Amino acid sequence: MLEELRAEHGDVLVTDAAALEALRSDKSGQRSATPPLAVVEAREIAHVQAALRWASAHGVPVVPRGAGTGLAGGAIAQAGELVISTARMARILQIDEADEFAVVEAGVLNGDLNAALAPHGLWYAPDPASRAISTIGGNIATNAGGLMCVKYGVTREAVLGLTVVLADGRVLTTGHRTVKGVTGYDLTALFVGSEGTLGIVVEATLRLRPLERGGVSTISAAFPDVEAAAHASSAITAAGIRPAALELLDASSLEAIGELLALDLGGRGAQLLIKTDGPGAVAEADAAVAIVRAHGGTAELAVDAEAGERLFVIRRAFHPAMERRGTVLIEDVAVPRSALPAMFAAIARIERAHGIPIPTVAHAGDGNLHPNFVFEPDVADPFAVPERVWAAADELFTECLRLGGTLTGEHGVGLLKRRWLRQELGDDSYELQRGIKRVFDPAGILNPGKVFA
Ligand SMILES: Cc1cc2nc3c(=O)[nH]c(=O)nc-3n(C[C@H](O)[C@H](O)[C@H](O)COP(=O)(O)OP(=O)(O)OC[C@H]3O[C@@H](n4cnc5c(N)ncnc54)[C@H](O)[C@@H]3O)c2cc1C
Repeated sequence: MLEELRAEHGDVLVTDAAALEALRSDKSGQRSATPPLAVVEAREIAHVQAALRWASAHGVPVVPRGAGTGLAGGAIAQAGELVISTARMARILQIDEADEFAVVEAGVLNGDLNAALAPHGLWYAPDPASRAISTIGGNIATNAGGLMCVKYGVTREAVLGLTVVLADGRVLTTGHRTVKGVTGYDLTALFVGSEGTLGIVVEATLRLRPLERGGVSTISAAFPDVEAAAHASSAITAAGIRPAALELLDASSLEAIGELLALDLGGRGAQLLIKTDGPGAVAEADAAVAIVRAHGGTAELAVDAEAGERLFVIRRAFHPAMERRGTVLIEDVAVPRSALPAMFAAIARIERAHGIPIPTVAHAGDGNLHPNFVFEPDVADPFAVPERVWAAADELFTECLRLGGTLTGEHGVGLLKRRWLRQELGDDSYELQRGIKRVFDPAGILNPGKVFA
């Protein structure tokens, strides 16, 4: 069957064993049992169309893939599946200063886009910690969040329109280039966060912002314990302060990062990193420091923007630090900001009850926590999460939902959260969503087995 596709686009069809091996995993720690059939390394929209037309004609399942940095297993492929990678579609097609938008191909790296925008005095706000290594297409498919989403919003708020190749190879354009626009259903928003199950994003029109002209203040605040830090974080947002970033690191994540970066971060109960920006940066920083102190913390103001950035290097080193600790299940729950202290208390309880270390960092200003379950894998199946770890995670998800939270704040459902999806959505919403998937992908070839069980 593949010969037909090779005849049409042999230059982008790869069946090399080493290339296929790499597609068995992403950054979630999961790995498929077998490599996929082939990968189309698309360089233009026509390649994606040809591959999807071929897959539709032959009923071959397709796994869309960007840079493979996903943490939910969404881009993992197995035997019989065709991977369509948009990583090599990496051109910035247009930067419009007057109307503050950019048109980019899906494979542009988030960090590269911002480097190209800076000389124009513009920036693209969603900033996952993986910004240097993840693609805009992957960010859109996962509705990626990041450190500055607390003030500037997640990916959904920054996508004006999309070009998508549908399962049968048709090209669909959605959205608008205007600031406002409410014509018809909002298909752009539907595709954002759809994890490759509705179509393949090939181009995006992105909302830009002028580079922040006011100053930046960065505060490092140490607390005796994580609950005090969580209370301070909730109090800062409840006071109407809008930090550009508000991150929390617990004691064991600080210890792991300290080891990785050879810094002395041990011995602290927890740390908040608070960044304020814009014309009110100094006044907001002063107000945040007062709240930190009122909650038993000590606060230190970075001397300049560079020193502030160095503090955030600590936060961005969390995932690499966890990777060095061994096998990790990276979780991603979100709760209302006022429930942050209760969620941290629940994590401590679950850690003790199950005897599993759960170092946790949080985009605290969003109420979005990343508890990392560190465990010894089973020898018989080293890439599977053992049931005892899932039992602890199940307790954590249940507690999160009880507190009014959600199962995933930014990483997506992928393979890892499928079994809890119905529990959060309820039967009606779950079935309606499966119905929407059938409208876009009647034969069910797009990323089967992901999101929906
Ligand atoms: C060190 C590190 C830090 C991270 N920090 C953050 C963070 O702060 N915030 C955050 O949200 N995430 C974070 N992530 C997770 C990850 O980087 C994001 O989910 C990112 O958006 C994935 O982009 P990608 O290009 O790697 O996509 P992939 O991993 O290749 O794919 C992710 C999903 O998107 C689908 N997909 C990819 N490209 C397309 C396309 N063109 N069309 C349709 N579907 C597509 C795939 O099928 C899959 O379901 C982090 C990961 C790492 C390793």
